Amino acid sequence: MAGKLIIFSAPSGSGKSTIINFLLKQNLNLHFSISATSRAPRGTEKDGVEYYFLTPDEFRTRILAGDFLEYEEVYTDKYYGTLKSEVERRLMSGDNVIFDVDVVGGCNIKKFYGDRALSVFIQPPSIEDLRSRLKERGTDAPEVIENRIAKAEFELGFADKFDVIVVNDKLEVAQKEALKVIKRFLEKA
Ligand code: ADP
Ligand code: 5GP
Repeated sequence: MAGKLIIFSAPSGSGKSTIINFLLKQNLNLHFSISATSRAPRGTEKDGVEYYFLTPDEFRTRILAGDFLEYEEVYTDKYYGTLKSEVERRLMSGDNVIFDVDVVGGCNIKKFYGDRALSVFIQPPSIEDLRSRLKERGTDAPEVIENRIAKAEFELGFADKFDVIVVNDKLEVAQKEALKVIKRFLEKA
């Protein structure tokens, strides 16, 4: 049987990666869709693990080659995209795939796969919480954080386009809730 898709979207700092990492350990036959990006690796990130890191020119070449299921210029000159090869290979072998993509990419993947996909919006308690989480994460320069906060208002407006909203206030509560809705979706015929 072909696999299913779980899409996670939210403003940067909402806790998507933290919750996805928890879900990947839960025996759900879930595999992370490694996106391509033209941003530089941050902290301990490695090519082929968190992302495939491409130069902007390499990224544009792959756009022209039709290699992407979807891609966005999420921040100025910073491309992010889902490679078709990354997704189809997995789905055809019956694996479930989980995505961490921006809100526009999330809506596009949902539209493309319909009922085979569950789209989940991770809602932060407030913009102030987002700012303090990004500061505490310590991976981005102050101007990068402000750039991400500036985009968050726009992104929060997409919440009602998603199948499910999970509020990430207390992490354990959000993880439990995410696990519950995803299990239910994967068990459905
Ligand atoms: P995203 O992937 O959405 O950008 P992350 O998962 O990297 O977000 O989380 C941003 C930061 O906030 C990380 O340092 C993470 O440990 C922290 N964090 C995640 N969820 C919570 C929460 N519920 N309460 C407090 N801090 C959190
Ligand atoms: P970050 O730089 O924090 O890793 O990611 C920035 C934003 O890009 C996040 O909102 C993340 O979800 C989004 N993103 C990551 N990969 C993709 C992708 O393949 N497609 C799209 N549309 N967005 C992505």
